[in-house]
Amino acid sequence: MQGIVFDIKRFAIHDGPGIRTSIFFKGCPLSCWWCHNPESCAKGIQKLDFEFKGSSTIGWETSAEQLLFEVEKDRAFFDESNGGVTFTGGEPMMQANFLKETAELFKSKELHLTLDTTGYVAEQKFREVVGLMDLVLFDLKHMNEKSHFEFTGVSNKLIFRNLQYLVEEGKEIHIRYPMMPGLNDEESNLIEMMQFLQKNTDVKRIHLLPYHKIASGKYEKLGMKNRMIGIDEPSQARIELVKDYLEIGGFEVMVG
Ligand code: SF4
Repeated sequence: MQGIVFDIKRFAIHDGPGIRTSIFFKGCPLSCWWCHNPESCAKGIQKLDFEFKGSSTIGWETSAEQLLFEVEKDRAFFDESNGGVTFTGGEPMMQANFLKETAELFKSKELHLTLDTTGYVAEQKFREVVGLMDLVLFDLKHMNEKSHFEFTGVSNKLIFRNLQYLVEEGKEIHIRYPMMPGLNDEESNLIEMMQFLQKNTDVKRIHLLPYHKIASGKYEKLGMKNRMIGIDEPSQARIELVKDYLEIGGFEVMVG
């Protein structure tokens, strides 16, 4: 089976425990205003032509065996640091069958597997694949359905149902909260998120991911509209305030 990925990052230290190799799957069902990887959104391989500057291709076809060959190069670092492999994107579950085949092969080689997911995945597919994962990094972008729809293009109802399933399965979960000034960092959203997690899960760790403008140049190259124009990165003081707020709520917070 062939799948499409658009990047492999070695020595990643923010995508799960230890030193990891992160594999970026192409395709995402969301269209978040703040997306740092807009090149991940479209499902297929993309060819970009630049006037006077030639062209470049985003994504390539690969197989589970080829990916295993790549990650095995880093095995010594995984063993040293209790690390492993992280599947990210885009939304890796957009290629659920390929992800499943890859995860089964990796699991048979005793690799620690982390899935970074939006949770916006058909429930049956989600259930088939998450059982292979040791850890799930699960995004919570906005608790209010209307705001979630506005900023990501989809409802959060399915996302909550899939999170509930992970809880019932006793899966280790870390929440990823992208902090977007003026969009989802208001007190009411933070309170709702904390109350929801306290009531429905035993999640302890939240990754707070502050907005940064690093990706703005990509939008121009891709000919995509950048909806974050005019929104500034949060100050260090504001990040600390939100971090403290979540910590007072009983969560262990990692920034970045
Ligand atoms: S879910 Fe992630 S990859 Fe998909 S559009 Fe949102 S930020 Fe980008």
